[in-house]
Amino acid sequence: MRTAVDMKLENKEVIIIPERCKGCGFCIEFCPQHVLVESTEINSKGYHPVYISDESRCNKCDICGMICPDFAISVVDIKKKPKS
Ligand code: SF4
Ligand code: SF4
Repeated sequence: MRTAVDMKLENKEVIIIPERCKGCGFCIEFCPQHVLVESTEINSKGYHPVYISDESRCNKCDICGMICPDFAISVVDIKKKPKS
């Protein structure tokens, strides 16, 4: 059975902008679910951007978004606006 918390989490998504990531690892270090990892890919600045290894374990807490100094990762609300 889907709970209200489940439904709330379904309306949120982690967005990563790889070009902004400088691979500092802060989000990897502080993610309570340990789902962020460094990619083997390299962005145009020469850094390895992060990605989520297991989205099902992400609790959308947005600690990654709060700690990222470059605004490269954040949790956004993808809930559709109600029709007026
Ligand atoms: S939202 Fe929370 S659990 Fe998900 S990747 Fe960011 S810090 Fe980790
Ligand atoms: S904290 Fe931001 S810049 Fe640092 S690794 Fe994570 S997403 Fe990249």
